[in-house]
This record gives sequence, C-alpha cells and structure tokens, in this order.
Amino acid sequence: MMKKNKTKIVATLGPASCEEATIEELVLSGATMFRINTSHNTAEAHAETIKRIRNVEKKLKTFIPVLVDLQGPKIRVGNLIEPIAIEPGKELVLEYGLEQTDPNIVPVDYKGVADDVHEGEYILLDDGKIKIQVVAKEGSKVRVKVINGELLKPRKGINIPGGTKSLSAITERDVDFIKFAVDNDADYLALSFVRDKDDILLAKKYLSHFGADIPIVAKIEKPEAVKNINSILNVVDAVMVARGDLGIELAPEKVPMVQKMIVDEAFAQRKTCIVATQMLESMIENPIPTRAEASDVANAILDGADAVMLSGETAAGKYPVEAVKMMAMIAHDVEQSNFVSYNLDLPMNPDYEPTPQAVAAAAVKMANDLGAKAILAFTHTGYTVKLLSKLRPSVPVLAISDSEKSCRKLNLFWDMHPYLKDWDVVLNDDLLKKIDKLLLEKTEFKKDDRVIIIGSIPKLITGRTNFVRVHRMCAF
Ligand code: PGA
Ligand code: MN
Repeated sequence: MMKKNKTKIVATLGPASCEEATIEELVLSGATMFRINTSHNTAEAHAETIKRIRNVEKKLKTFIPVLVDLQGPKIRVGNLIEPIAIEPGKELVLEYGLEQTDPNIVPVDYKGVADDVHEGEYILLDDGKIKIQVVAKEGSKVRVKVINGELLKPRKGINIPGGTKSLSAITERDVDFIKFAVDNDADYLALSFVRDKDDILLAKKYLSHFGADIPIVAKIEKPEAVKNINSILNVVDAVMVARGDLGIELAPEKVPMVQKMIVDEAFAQRKTCIVATQMLESMIENPIPTRAEASDVANAILDGADAVMLSGETAAGKYPVEAVKMMAMIAHDVEQSNFVSYNLDLPMNPDYEPTPQAVAAAAVKMANDLGAKAILAFTHTGYTVKLLSKLRPSVPVLAISDSEKSCRKLNLFWDMHPYLKDWDVVLNDDLLKKIDKLLLEKTEFKKDDRVIIIGSIPKLITGRTNFVRVHRMCAF
C-alpha cells in the first residue's frame, strides 16, 4: 500500500536515485513529485529518467507529476590561471570574461557586471563562502574589496543580490530545456532566480511558442523576488522557497521569517507553496537526520507548506530512500496533531470565481459538522480542488478528473488525491453507485459513512463548481 501523506514530498532525482527500481522505492516511501534539475546532466539523460518515472507511474497505477527545474541565469567565475589567495581587505578587479588572461583581473561570465552593480553592494562567491563589496566602477572593470574568504577557485558560482538587470531570466540553455519540458510532457516548470513577474511572463511566451501551457513554479531566491512576491504569485501556479540561494543572497538569519511570509502570501493567493533545500541535509551522509532538521521539516509543514522538497539528499546522497521515508514520517507525525499555526479562515479572493470558492468552503464546513470521511470533488482542470486544498479540509479530498494531466498536476496539492474517471456527472443513482464502488475499493470507508460530494452540473467546466451534496455510502 502506498503511503499517503497530506503534505506532498518532492524528491530531486540524480545519480543516487535515477534507476527505475529506486524511483519506484521512492514513490512507495512517500515521494509525490520528482524534480529534474537541469543544472546538471544532459537532456538525453533527463529524458531517460522521465521515461522511467512514467514506467513506475503505470506500474503503481498512480499519478506522478514531473517538475523540470531550469537553471536560470547562474553566474560563475571564469577559468583562473590558478586559485587566488584572498583575505579581508584585499582588493580585486572583476571584468567580464571566460578565461583569465591578466593575473590581476578575475573574469566573470556575466556581461553586465560593470553596468548592473553599484558602489557599496555586496557580491557573494562560492555558495556565500566569499563576500566582496563593490568599491568603484572603472569602465568595464569593477574594483571590489574582500570582506571575508580565503581562497577563490575557478568556476565557482556568484550571487549578486542587487539588480541583475542585463541578465535575461531565461538563458539559451533554459530555452532548450523549456522545449524539452514540452516535448517530455513535464507537469511543472520551475524558474530559477526570478526577479519579477516579467520573468514569468517571458517563460510563458516561450511556452506558448512551443505550444504548451505548463504550470510554472517561481523559485524565490533573490531579494527582489521577495519584494515582488505579490505580483509574482499573481501570475504563477506555485512558488518554491528556494532557501539555498535565498540564504546566500539575503542572509541565513533572514530565511525563517521570509519563509513564513511567502507561505502566508501563497495562502492569500491560493497558490501552491514548496519549501526546499537542506531540509534533511545531513542525510546526504548519515542514515538519520539531525533533530534540528527534523524540526525544520515539521515547522515548514506547520507554517503551511503544501510540499517539502529534498535535493542533494535524494539526488546524490547515500540514503535517498531513507530520506524520503524520514520526511514522510515527520509529515505523518505533524499531521496527527491538531496544532496549526496558520489562519484557516480565508476570506473570499476576488481573483477567483466566487461560486466554487463558496462551494469549497461549504464542503469543508459540512465535512466537519457531519464527521464526513472525505470530500469527493469532480474536477476537470483542478481549479476548485486547489481552492479546497488551501482551505486545509480536515478530511482528505478524492479528486475525480477526466484528465490525466490534471490528475498529475493536482497530486502536488496538499491532501488532494487524484482518480482518473471519465464519468458523466449527473447526480443519479448510477453515479452514486459508481462512487460507492470506488470508495469501497480504494478506501476503508463503510456503509453509512458520509462523504461530501462537490462538482458542477451540467458539465465540468473550469471554475464552475456549483453543487455540494451529502452522500451516505451504500444508500442504494
Ligand atoms: P537549486 O534551487 O537547488 O536549483 O539551487 C534551490 C535553492 O536554491 O534552494
Ligand atoms: Mn537555487
């Protein structure tokens, strides 16, 4: 029996986990969605991994969304003649370039470096291990002072928390992978280093150019994105609190409260929120996590994350399956408690159709008042189901859709569980009998248990959910 948490688990696949048998084990252990990290490896290798995910999906008769994560405009130090010893106070000169030709100049692969940075701004290198500050701009050169750090090595990543105006949010490599995502039927597309909503709109343009409309996950990992969170949320399907780069570009001590703010805003706008990075980091090396990591997973769920994510733990760690199992166990434990720290009393949101919002809210209340076992929602695109999910019903939602695509997509939503059925939604005995049969087969519900049914009549049209009905099982 597959484990079914309310909180969804995203596992990044990589060398430690891309075999089909491992993928299957990860799903059986609680992984809900797989992330393909295009920063590494080739398109061919990723296509093979996706094929394996689809095989597992068929074998286990489930729905596994695939997230293709674009690298975005990652900036790097160029090739150096040799590593450069540095110390606080030392001055360096940066200039656009891929190869070091002058031992006194550090090449960086970012054309706009001299135009975009400003005096006094900080720049971080090598995952934040080195911090430098801009002293002056001299033509195409940028003079900087080392704040801390010891050794600057070639090809290390650079984070520029200030504006990076001249960089396109979508690199040539990203365009290739957008096409890849379309060709390989990806269910979500993640954008790295998003700054504002225009970055998202650009990705959407590429998607429509390739003839697809894949839901977008904005990775919030730049201070600008934090500032623009409202307008970004407005145009995406989901956000990821990408704490790795966020902790470099802001500061580690800023991450916890920013995480809570993003989760809250995602609730307000009914968008899916994934909390990511270093959640069980020590499990890359060890079979058990630190207690602080266990608490971090639990607290992200208590904050209101719809999904929690594993990166290096599953992609390259020694214990990928154990990490998923641990995350699922922590989630399960949190979900058994009644402790919630977020506000469940969401007001109507004017960005959505009022009727489905009202029906979803009524279904949640009725399920509570009547001690119902589940809400059963008929949905075509998952529109109402996402609204339901953000209301955090006290019972699971069985979402019945006629679309395989929707089934995969909605499997990322908190406590939503998809079933693919092409049923005519006409509330007659025939439909209710079909529902009973499904519930008897797939759940432990019994005769006389109550289920709240929502859907739309006459027809499943997005955003038109218009009825709620109390059903008593096997009443026929
Ligand atoms: P990455 O994104 O793993 O692709 O860098 C997540 C993060 O920065 O936290
Ligand atoms: Mn990142």
